[in-house]
Amino acid sequence: MSERHDWFSGPVDGVAFALIMVVAAFLGRENPNFIYPGILYCFLGLLLFNFADFSILPRWLAETRRAVLKLLVNIFLLTLVLRCSGGPGSYFWVLFLLPVFNACLSFAARGVLAATAAVLAVLAAFHLEGLRNGSAAEALQLLVKAAIVAASAFVVMRVAAREREARLRLEAERRRMELERARAREQLQRMDRLATLGTLTAGVAHELNTPLTTILGYAQLGLDDTGPALDLPHILGRIEDSVRRCRQIIQDMLAFSRQKTGTRASCDVNQLVRECVALKQHDWLADRISVESRLEADIPPLLLSGSQFQQVIFNLLVNAQQALRAAAVAQGRIVLATRRDGGDVLVSVQDNGPGVPAPIAGRIWEPFFTTKPEGTGLGLAICRQIVESQGGTLTLETSSRGALFVIRLPVASAETPAKPAASAAPRRDRSGHVLVADDDSATREVLARMLAPYGLPVVQAGDFDAALAELRRRPPRLLLCDLHMPGGRGAMDFFRGLRRDNLLGATAVVIVSGFPPGSVVEDIIREEGWVYLHKPFEIDSFRKAVDPVLSG
Ligand code: ADP
Repeated sequence: MSERHDWFSGPVDGVAFALIMVVAAFLGRENPNFIYPGILYCFLGLLLFNFADFSILPRWLAETRRAVLKLLVNIFLLTLVLRCSGGPGSYFWVLFLLPVFNACLSFAARGVLAATAAVLAVLAAFHLEGLRNGSAAEALQLLVKAAIVAASAFVVMRVAAREREARLRLEAERRRMELERARAREQLQRMDRLATLGTLTAGVAHELNTPLTTILGYAQLGLDDTGPALDLPHILGRIEDSVRRCRQIIQDMLAFSRQKTGTRASCDVNQLVRECVALKQHDWLADRISVESRLEADIPPLLLSGSQFQQVIFNLLVNAQQALRAAAVAQGRIVLATRRDGGDVLVSVQDNGPGVPAPIAGRIWEPFFTTKPEGTGLGLAICRQIVESQGGTLTLETSSRGALFVIRLPVASAETPAKPAASAAPRRDRSGHVLVADDDSATREVLARMLAPYGLPVVQAGDFDAALAELRRRPPRLLLCDLHMPGGRGAMDFFRGLRRDNLLGATAVVIVSGFPPGSVVEDIIREEGWVYLHKPFEIDSFRKAVDPVLSG
């Protein structure tokens, strides 16, 4: 009795039938066999019960059990009808076909058989007395009724089974088409992204390659000692001009991309997550991925750009979905959760796919790093950038199964964190050292050279973890720090570490980044009294930034 139709009876058929019967009972009220108004009450009972339908049946009953209960109540009421309408001789026995038909629509063969048997048992009970008296006419009557019920059940069951098969086929086809549509849509989106990226890259490449040709040409001419002696200041001047041109192109691009950043407002994170789930639900159904939202109730509103936050969630969901699909996980599962953790709100996206292999866990944040044939490798880099621009952190956490990405957002993300108590004005003496944290070794080298005239030792760190370790070991006089470095830790994470362990003390900080800081990082820089230098910078700007600290 397991399979059932979506279109299972509902109240309509019962109501229609009961209405007709109420009218019939009313019209036949003069019939001497009728126990009137008993029959009317029975019909009214049928009407009310079928009208109220499942809603008056206990909620905790599984649907199939509710259908069985409904069938039994109907058979019981019909039995009363038969009793009130003159017993076995009444033509109302025909109404018993209705529960049998309902069973045909609701259940498979076993269910129909059980319903038919129940109906026949009730009919036989009405004929019992006649049978006991050995009435051949009564036996024949019962036989005819049984034959009619059984034959009707058989015919309707066949028709219903055929209908059911057709529906299942249609349903399977619909799912297949949905899956194909979802795949096509994703393919299209990816192609669109790639096309946009391709156009953009081609444009930028064209713009940048021209000044780069000048730089490369003059640099190689300068290095070539076989040709005629060249005017070095002239060559370097040309290189400088070309680099400035490259810088202008990049600044224009950044200014363009910055126009798309959303404005921050007070947001209900749970609601934003719910909206993302609702929008993606369709794809998951097609991919047979189950999604669970475990959203804690008392999440306070956060100051965020809602659209950017959703962009991050979408990206994490798409990654999880792609990982599950690529690994052909039979029972794919994605769990979205929000919870409060002290002064932060954590939003996590976890899947039960293959997870991120340890050797690449640090690299997934690098722009253009991808393991997918048609991936862009920009998703996580952009996500981290967005989350950090909102004052949060995005990390890959260790998980027993699959990948677990956690967004940590400060509750008071609008407020800039308080300055550590021990923070003091930079020292002006000539002791100490400088810590240069940048993932690019050439940048570290050129910064170290620019610092050489100050006569202080320069220590280098290639990522935030190394920089934190060095700061813990020995606080420098000046920290020159990039904002975007690969590895598990992002800039906001780094700043939190600095503040939590009060590592800066008397250290002055100059942030050196090629990417504009988000508004939250900007606030932190301003509040902390740090200096921000945009890469590529002029040596004069560099000197202006470090002079007050180093030339005491
Ligand atoms: P893309 O999706 O275009 O590859 P991303 O920056 O979003 O770019 O992801 C970078 C890489 O991180 C992916 O190629 C993949 O190897 C890995 N990755 C991201 N999310 C997951 C995940 N949920 N499960 C396994 N690996 C993942």
